[in-house]
Amino acid sequence: MPRRITDACTCDASCVEVCPVDCISPGDIYVIDEDVCIDCGACEAVCPSDAIIEV
Ligand code: SF4
Ligand code: SF4
Repeated sequence: MPRRITDACTCDASCVEVCPVDCISPGDIYVIDEDVCIDCGACEAVCPSDAIIEV
């Protein structure tokens, strides 16, 4: 299951730095391209606001 970013995101970009497939993009909140995400969990581990969930 890919990850998804909720509106708890504070846009600090920690997840972008660790994503091995560069599938996270900035916006009003950060967004994961679920077609590209390989479900490694790296982003979830570093998110300071627990904004990344499995869907
Ligand atoms: S689970 Fe892995 S591949 Fe998917 S968005 Fe997070 S860091 Fe990137
Ligand atoms: S690490 Fe969490 S709070 Fe930071 S940009 Fe990514 S989803 Fe948002």
